[in-house]
Amino acid sequence: MRILVVGGAGYIGSHVVKELLNTGYDVRVFDNLSTGQEINLFEKAEFIRGDILDVPALEKAMKGIDGVVHLAAKKAVGESMEKPDLYALNNLNGTINVLNAMVKEGVKYFVFSSTAAVYGMPEVEVLDEQTPLNPINFYGFSKKMIEDVLSWYDKLKGIKFVALRYFNAVGYDKEGDVKGLEKNPQNLLPIIMETIFGVREKMTVFGSDYPTKDGTCVRDYIHVSDLASAHELAFKYLLKSNESQVMNLGTGSGHSVKEMIETTQAVTKKKVAYEMGARRSGDPAALMAYSEKAKELLGWQPKHSSLENIIESTYRIYQKYF
Ligand code: UDP
Repeated sequence: MRILVVGGAGYIGSHVVKELLNTGYDVRVFDNLSTGQEINLFEKAEFIRGDILDVPALEKAMKGIDGVVHLAAKKAVGESMEKPDLYALNNLNGTINVLNAMVKEGVKYFVFSSTAAVYGMPEVEVLDEQTPLNPINFYGFSKKMIEDVLSWYDKLKGIKFVALRYFNAVGYDKEGDVKGLEKNPQNLLPIIMETIFGVREKMTVFGSDYPTKDGTCVRDYIHVSDLASAHELAFKYLLKSNESQVMNLGTGSGHSVKEMIETTQAVTKKKVAYEMGARRSGDPAALMAYSEKAKELLGWQPKHSSLENIIESTYRIYQKYF
């Protein structure tokens, strides 16, 4: 079985590649290295440097492939509001190019990197897949649109897909095989790390008056190696059931921003310089996932997502490669 991992040099993609190689698949990575990094490539995986906007290159990469995992996308929420054209082109057109290349080459199975951002600002704190989709930024909207396109390509072109709605992806491979640190990170844990390592003088906690246990926002942090295993299980599921599905991936429990900072200080024995600041617009107080569907249908279980493990594995990589 040969899987094409589109975006396989990125943060989540490279963890997926490792999981697929470990489970015995042949892997071909297709990545333009715009945010993905060469250092994240595995020797055992074939690599094609290419862009999802380059249709002939995609069609060539699709030859001899049994299934596709697609993670190539623009993912900065703030930027998506300033440059919707860029997000429309890369996330929407790019994914449609991937799907059309699959149709052309007769590849049927597709595992898609979706996001909890498709839900927007839901009224409930714990979300299942039936929670109404109401994205509040163009990034989330682009992923929702792709989910819709996938349903149509299922009906009209016979593409069978699993769309995985990730909650907050964090952590690093425990063997240290993924080495690339994200440049200019926008997410909480890498920002905490950069504050420890002095890239930032201090960080800001966005809001301390939320109706949560300590006033700061609560999120469902899921270890990237747990996300990776879900991709492999999703591919197996498609082969067995031939049925399309949408699934949440989270732990079901939440941690506050303050808890993230304090646990980091306890685990690393380093001080995190932070100040309390204003709320960031568009942040719901608390978001957590029901992931029963992934557990039932895929037999998936998060194994690496304790807060200590998440922080330790991230700190280790920063210590080594920063
Ligand atoms: N956050 C923060 N300061 C930062 C970055 C993030 O307080 O410098 C908070 C943010 O408000 C949210 C949580 O950390 O409640 C996780 O944010 P992130 O951007 O990592 O992911 P999101 O939940 O927005 O997808």
